Amino acid sequence: MSDKYSVPQERKLVTALPGPKSVELQERRLRAVSRGAGTLANIYMDRGAGAILVDVDGNQIIDLGCGIGVTTIGHANDEVAAAAAAQAAKLTHTLFTVTPYENYVAVAEKLAEITPGDFEKRSILVNTGAEAVENAVKIARKFTGRRAIVALDHAFHGRTNLTMAMTYRPWPERAGMGPFPGEIYSVPTSYPYRDGLTGEEAAEKTIDYINTHIGATEIAAFFIEPIQGDGGIVIPAPGFFKRLSEFCTENGIVFVSDEIQAGIARTGAWYGIEHHDVVPDLVTTAKGIAGGFPLAAVTGRADIMDSVQPGGIGGTFGGNPVSTAAALAVFDLIERDDLLGEARRVEKALRARIGDWPTRFSVVGDVRGKGAMFGVELVHPGTTTPYPEALTAIIKHATSNGVIVLDAGSWDSVLRIMPSVVISEALIDDAASVIEETLAALSGL
Ligand SMILES: *Cc1c(COP(=O)(O)O)cnc(C)c1O
Repeated sequence: MSDKYSVPQERKLVTALPGPKSVELQERRLRAVSRGAGTLANIYMDRGAGAILVDVDGNQIIDLGCGIGVTTIGHANDEVAAAAAAQAAKLTHTLFTVTPYENYVAVAEKLAEITPGDFEKRSILVNTGAEAVENAVKIARKFTGRRAIVALDHAFHGRTNLTMAMTYRPWPERAGMGPFPGEIYSVPTSYPYRDGLTGEEAAEKTIDYINTHIGATEIAAFFIEPIQGDGGIVIPAPGFFKRLSEFCTENGIVFVSDEIQAGIARTGAWYGIEHHDVVPDLVTTAKGIAGGFPLAAVTGRADIMDSVQPGGIGGTFGGNPVSTAAALAVFDLIERDDLLGEARRVEKALRARIGDWPTRFSVVGDVRGKGAMFGVELVHPGTTTPYPEALTAIIKHATSNGVIVLDAGSWDSVLRIMPSVVISEALIDDAASVIEETLAALSGL
């Protein structure tokens, strides 16, 4: 499998991390780049292939983050690169709403095919996840004539002003940057590790909160993430989404599955909500859709999507010819190489390799995930009290030993593991061994 890639699929360090060239770049960066763009590890990357990144000093690093779930199909895939390069040489921009082109239509057709639901659908293409969420808000408000927007506790929906208001954590995402738009409500979710409730019980609690605080008939849209990514890989108990989507249908509320992180093969299905046997009215897609090129979409029921007047939604770069060419290549690859199956293979390998961490390490409270999207919740031994310092220690040790991992969770205490679905079992094993060194030390072993 390895010789398929331009970089051997193995971890190999030739300098300390960060290496001398990274240190030099970091000095330049501090003088030029805003401090607000914080970085998890100041290792400057040069190239990548499959599940390996190569830094500017020539170190080969295992990537368990994929730039937060973007390079799901692997880094710098040849076929995606070729599709984008060919398109870039042919036509880079017209603005679809001035004069259209086929790629945009083809991506919308494909999204209609792969999103859940056997009904007529329409899509709009935009540039970023947050922009997709903003558009879904606008569309749902226009369709329903209502104003209120509901999101779940621990949600992450973006960093624009509107989507910050839909994002749960005050720090660091929102602090000092308000005011935020009104009519946005955060309601209780299902968090099996912490609340011990069944999906139905948690849903009744959520619905009661809505009825007593907001009023169902005021609500335009209810946003969920099938698996909360930044919120800490929180997977609601079975039945939770089913009951909430029924509640939405009963009350004329647009049910939106924000699949920006969980969608496009990451969980072993095209979309994460498929695991919950729920068909959303609208779906937002971004991150993994175009192999690293900026592209996002809102897809859903034709009557909802077509309720907006022409000119009511759009944007200069949305559905760019190059990004859409890359997305079409990504769709082909996922189907041809059975990357949904590969994500399920990664799930099996991760479960086998790290599933017993809660019994082996006293600082691990829970290991949970679906496909290539896992979370390890860190707690003080013998309690369920979040242990953010443990996460900091793991990230520090892993990144300085050539393994990129991500943080997550409302208490900064969930280690997030989101490798490419093409990652080998050997790389999973090697990366897990590096993380275990810190877990053992923290657990007093
Ligand atoms: C990343 C993310 C967003 C925001 O996407 P951007 O492309 O960063 O704007 C929104 N929702 C979810 C679930 C995400 O993971």
